[in-house]
Amino acid sequence: MGFLDIKNATKSYGSLQVLHETNIAVEEGEFLVLVGPSGCGKSTLLNMIAGLEEVTSGEIAIRGNRMNEVRPAERNIAMVFQSYALYPNMNVAQNIAFGLEMHGVPKPKREEAVRDVAELLQITKLLDRKPGQLSGGQRQRVAMGRALVRDPDVFLFDEPLSNLDAKLRVDMRTEIKKLHQKLGTTIVYVTHDQIEALTLSTRIAVMFGGYVQQLGTPKEIYDDPANMFVAGFMGSPS
Ligand code: ADP
Ligand code: MG
Repeated sequence: MGFLDIKNATKSYGSLQVLHETNIAVEEGEFLVLVGPSGCGKSTLLNMIAGLEEVTSGEIAIRGNRMNEVRPAERNIAMVFQSYALYPNMNVAQNIAFGLEMHGVPKPKREEAVRDVAELLQITKLLDRKPGQLSGGQRQRVAMGRALVRDPDVFLFDEPLSNLDAKLRVDMRTEIKKLHQKLGTTIVYVTHDQIEALTLSTRIAVMFGGYVQQLGTPKEIYDDPANMFVAGFMGSPS
């Protein structure tokens, strides 16, 4: 049994099956990237891991707890989206602390946690600013801070860098990788960018048409693609 177990998981909307039987055992501390073109089912799978969407059949469990049976507040999963969804009227510190406040963490502990996370993400100088006074990259850091501060079991990312310009995307990619190396949190990360997948992951699931076409290390996927789709999408040499 993996730390995060996806077992025979499927998803249908009415008669439309958007995710076919999927099996992935994610080990604790892994950085799993779900990569594939738009519409292949990446967000659907991620949302099911988060417990935001029901599985149609099969199951998804973290440490043996089925996500659809765990109350949202007890899931201990953090999610970062493409849109940052920060609270515009709160400053950065309040944005980061908000989730802790909701969970009843006392103020001194909240402040300490915010300081630690801000230092980690190098946003200490921004703590008093409102989201409107931040650049896109800074907002994305704050969004990550808000997720990280709760010390989640699993960190889920859905195309977190797609709104950033190319230079910033590369910088943030490096940051996220460093963060993972430092914290060792289990990460499931969705992207349509094969370079991001190859550079960030410990393992990659390449998806197309609602199927995981191949699951493997970046080297396995790149050097030994399972089929024409994987080879073409990942840019493997022919
Ligand atoms: P990706 O994140 O890889 O771009 P999604 O997981 O968002 O893909 O979507 C996979 C497929 O499921 C798409 O064909 C999409 O149109 C469909 N889909 C997603 N959400 C719904 C929904 N609520 N109702 C019907 N179809 C949906
Ligand atoms: Mg998506």
